[in-house]
Amino acid sequence: MSIRPPVKRPLLIDYWVTGRCNFRCPFCYGAFAPDKTEGTQSLYRVSDNLCRPELSFNQVKGILLKLKKIGVTNVVFSGGEPMIRRDIVDIIKFSHRHFTTYLSTNGYLFFEKYDQIRDSIDSLSIAVDSLNKNVIANLGKNINHIDNVMDILGYFINYKPKHIVKVATMVSQINKKDILEIGNTLCHNQNVYKPNAWRLYQFTPHRKALTVKEKYEIDTNEFLEICHSMKEAFPDIYISGRTVEEMEDGYFFITPDGQMQILLRNEYCTIADLLTIGVNDLIKMLYRYIPEIKKSRKKRGWRKALSPALDQDSSYDESLDLVDDDDIVMGQVSRAAVYGGKKKVRIVNIFLENVQGKIWIPIRNPQKEIYPFCLDNSAGGHVKSGEDYDAAFKREVMEELNIDISRCKWELLGYLKPQVDKVSTFMKVYKIISNTTPDFNRYDFLSGSWMKPSNVMELIRNGQPSKDDLIILMKRFYTQKLSMTV
Ligand code: SF4
Repeated sequence: MSIRPPVKRPLLIDYWVTGRCNFRCPFCYGAFAPDKTEGTQSLYRVSDNLCRPELSFNQVKGILLKLKKIGVTNVVFSGGEPMIRRDIVDIIKFSHRHFTTYLSTNGYLFFEKYDQIRDSIDSLSIAVDSLNKNVIANLGKNINHIDNVMDILGYFINYKPKHIVKVATMVSQINKKDILEIGNTLCHNQNVYKPNAWRLYQFTPHRKALTVKEKYEIDTNEFLEICHSMKEAFPDIYISGRTVEEMEDGYFFITPDGQMQILLRNEYCTIADLLTIGVNDLIKMLYRYIPEIKKSRKKRGWRKALSPALDQDSSYDESLDLVDDDDIVMGQVSRAAVYGGKKKVRIVNIFLENVQGKIWIPIRNPQKEIYPFCLDNSAGGHVKSGEDYDAAFKREVMEELNIDISRCKWELLGYLKPQVDKVSTFMKVYKIISNTTPDFNRYDFLSGSWMKPSNVMELIRNGQPSKDDLIILMKRFYTQKLSMTV
């Protein structure tokens, strides 16, 4: 199976289109701009001493089209405050032509731009952290914020929106006593539009918000208890809570300077520069994060989207037969437990040879757990528990080279034992004869080419990294040909 972009499933990404904001919330962990914007260029602070420009509308469009090609279906625009961008209307209109489009805002500039975007957004999320002006001031927000949000929710009573309306509340030690009042207002105030959903977020001590952790942090159990009591108190409204833990290991987003990042165990890891990376390379980079996505619980569609590779990658945990010194099955072991150890299992190795005697030799995918970037046999892999060598040969050839062995000539070259032949474990080695360059699996191999056996040996001797068994197998099965072709 070859790599394909994820398609036909909802796949959501957050796009922090700006680092600028008209508020200065101490708990903000989003993109952030330097305190002073230099010249006319809007800057985004990448780290304490590095600022980079925010992208232009054309650059944002280019990135959105790239996201579309990799299968993204839903984009959430946030920041900073996305409505602060002069071109946000153009961005949202463009996005709406290609994606389900969400806008997450503090609402401060709502009435300036809403008319122009109302038909281009599918969901609008407005931040409401308290209705108490003292608390709002304590949270670092402009105290007019409450009046503004109430005006927006009142406006929707008269001008019913076609899009979804959500209210987002960050819950911390500072505002935890205000959550009930927010619920009462959203559900029971006649002058307030009842939102389609109310999302409660646990205070997240990331990035800039780390500095106020002691003052704001709320225990997960206490947060979940608040979510639970709100659901009981307001059954008429859809309420969901998101803990800090649920944010991690599956949260993909784009920074204002165009970096695609993932949040992994509190670290913001850059996957790619979306301005420069090609679509195929981006897909390859995403597949590198499969083990992380596998571990995560909230994936915003990414786990399902990458499921072809996840299914394949589940072989990493597959069960293999553990064998004794005579290749007799003694029990089972996971494939992960075999790597780096001395446990004996069974493997198959395959050479694809053409009629000129050249072998198709691939370079392993850089994302491989073992031997990344190394020369390899044409195909190969473990014999799964309950499988025999021939069945594994047939399966591996199909999975890695997309070749059906019932349609080509093949033969068994030999059966090798670690004690006798100095190979890594018990193996059967096969040869397939075909002149067709294989449609190889990009998850396994980066590239491949037809080579004379003598050239393969020369490359390895000259220091090209290769799988340990490759040179042994080349010597064993191609020595005769070497003497003819060298
Ligand atoms: S309004 Fe939102 S983006 Fe702006 S500072 Fe506050 S939390 Fe950050």
